[in-house]
Amino acid sequence: MEIVLYPHPALRWKSRPITEIDANLRKTVAEMFELMYAAKGIGLAANQVALPYRLFVLNLTGDAAEKDEEVVFLNPEILKRKGTTEGEEGCLSFPGLYKDVKRAAEVTVEAFDLSGNGFEYSLDELAARAVQHEYDHIEGILFIDRLTETLKRECQPVLEDFETQCRRKQAEGKLPSDEVLKQELARLAAG
Ligand code: ZN
Repeated sequence: MEIVLYPHPALRWKSRPITEIDANLRKTVAEMFELMYAAKGIGLAANQVALPYRLFVLNLTGDAAEKDEEVVFLNPEILKRKGTTEGEEGCLSFPGLYKDVKRAAEVTVEAFDLSGNGFEYSLDELAARAVQHEYDHIEGILFIDRLTETLKRECQPVLEDFETQCRRKQAEGKLPSDEVLKQELARLAAG
């Protein structure tokens, strides 16, 4: 498992609900936390490790030692959004890119944990921003989609660099073609 970079097709996949909580899923979640900490992130969605499932993990401290701060969101739904606020965001699938994004200031989110128990949080500040960012991932939406036109234009050269690097890896056989990657996503989504 590894964190995939833009424009990997997994980042544009609308993920499917999780239907079973088993050892395999627990292992996936543990690996996602490890990758997230190694990359110095605070959140990671399944799409970012090329898995088409409605799942993301958060630890707003970004500190692997703070196990109590780890939250696993299975089949999350954002029930309410209130107000707007602007703040800087980055994304582990766009290393080095940070831009201001407008988000709801407060959200209410419900999800299931790894024990299959439902929970509901009302969140604001960083937690609200992180949940909206990660929820977008499982819908195949990226933070670059939510930038103002001016910021989008500013990002264009960086996005083109990501694109070039991806196509180069594919040409060198270090990354499968988009077609093969999409077939694999479809297979996992069906399985
Ligand atoms: Zn992200």
